[in-house]
Amino acid sequence: MEKKAWIAEADKVLMHTYNRYPMVLDRGEGMYLYETDGTKYLDFAAGIAVFALGYGNREYNEALKAQVDKLLHTSNYYYNEPAYEAAKALCEASGMDRVFFTNSGTEAMEGALKLARKYYYNKRGAADSEIVAMEHSFHGRSMGALAVTGTKKYREAFGPLIGQVRFARFNDLESVRSLVNEKTAAVVMEAVQGEGGIYPAEPEFLQEVRRLCTEKDILLILDEVQCGMGRTGTMFAYQQYGIEPDIMTSAKALGCGVPVGAFAAKENVASAMVPGDHGSTYGGNPFACSAVRTVFRLYEKLDLCSHVKTVGEYLWNVLEQIRQEFPIVTAHRGIGLMQGLELSAPVGEVVSACMKKGCILITAGGNVIRFVPPLVTEPCHVDEMAGILREALSEVSAKTNE
Ligand SMILES: *Cc1c(COP(=O)(O)O)cnc(C)c1O
Repeated sequence: MEKKAWIAEADKVLMHTYNRYPMVLDRGEGMYLYETDGTKYLDFAAGIAVFALGYGNREYNEALKAQVDKLLHTSNYYYNEPAYEAAKALCEASGMDRVFFTNSGTEAMEGALKLARKYYYNKRGAADSEIVAMEHSFHGRSMGALAVTGTKKYREAFGPLIGQVRFARFNDLESVRSLVNEKTAAVVMEAVQGEGGIYPAEPEFLQEVRRLCTEKDILLILDEVQCGMGRTGTMFAYQQYGIEPDIMTSAKALGCGVPVGAFAAKENVASAMVPGDHGSTYGGNPFACSAVRTVFRLYEKLDLCSHVKTVGEYLWNVLEQIRQEFPIVTAHRGIGLMQGLELSAPVGEVVSACMKKGCILITAGGNVIRFVPPLVTEPCHVDEMAGILREALSEVSAKTNE
């Protein structure tokens, strides 16, 4: 069937919650994706900051295939080796003590919120806690995660959500201070806001929020779903701030393509959960956890975090040049391989133009082009992307000046 006709058929059965690009992706190889008709793309989106290892990593694929032949699923009524090894690796990498595996980022946030409420309930004997979240944050689409997501248009139609959530201004300590009280169970945020437009927390802000939380026995939940797993050049973004959360969430690159997430906590917090408080049929199954275990092994083997620091700096310099060349680029932010360019022209047009020229990019809130490529990106890929981006920016600039 011709591509257009095929897409029309697919659009009849898939729920219309996305305006998809007219691309039918079929296979991947390293930094490149191919459509069913063979069209090749350089991928600077990594399936939304997921495919850290690039496509078709042999060791990763072999590990998954071996697990498929061995055992896919057991439920959590029993132990399995991959879950233990994945949890141990995540604890060692994060500084947390205990892990609960989920199937997605939003589920990880649900678990984190439940844990914070249980901790509060144990402490105060009442289920009347409040949460402080950040404006422009993103934590997922399920009801709890949505309730702490700081973009009104995502929440509006779906109320009533979980109550007693207040939104502080990100990077504004006074705003956080004014919203916490004796009923605040947790402050939740991303160390680097992703969907909201690539806004890193200022070191003093995050450090002071940590101090405030410690002082008032409020739990700090850091959502590392997007900015974690090496994306900023350390395994987790908060490690660059010299602080630790009480609870953290992970997903996206945690499985590098296999759907898996996790929330993890320090022992004094994790111990608030007892058998019966939380569960998941699939969560932590041997297949997903063999992916997680292998991901951690490969990060170490490839020394990916140092690589991200080096290539991230290279990307920074290239995007800085582009910012100076094109007046429609109004700002440049980010850390490591999580960067953004803010434009005064419609980002959608630039991204579509790049797509037509063979490079996949995505956008983020506030008219931002988001750069979250696989972490195995090399400088030559940055140059290839930059060449295409320059052409696209020239075209859109010319149109804007007409
Ligand atoms: C993507 C994302 C989520 C949601 O993860 P899903 O796996 O899509 O549910 C949560 N938090 C952050 C910061 C994210 O970027």
